[in-house]
Amino acid sequence: MLSLLGNILILLFFVPILFIILAFLGINSFKSKFKVCTNCGTTLISESERCLYCGSNFNKIENNKSYSENASNETIEIDAEEIQ
Ligand SMILES: [Zn+2]
Repeated sequence: MLSLLGNILILLFFVPILFIILAFLGINSFKSKFKVCTNCGTTLISESERCLYCGSNFNKIENNKSYSENASNETIEIDAEEIQ
């Protein structure tokens, strides 16, 4: 009976932690599903690669974003060289 009680106590201790972890993972997956179309500005919660309203491809938008991020990094490096 003591071992059973111990198991129950362990469960009572770990269940809330597991629940927090699951909630955290759920929020992360929700954020990844949460997309804003840069073409029409519509907010979508879906795993589809295309906008439901204007049909623009999200993969294309993500690629453009990564290119612009690289460009901004390059300009920051140039500014730092000018200061030195
Ligand atoms: Zn759209």
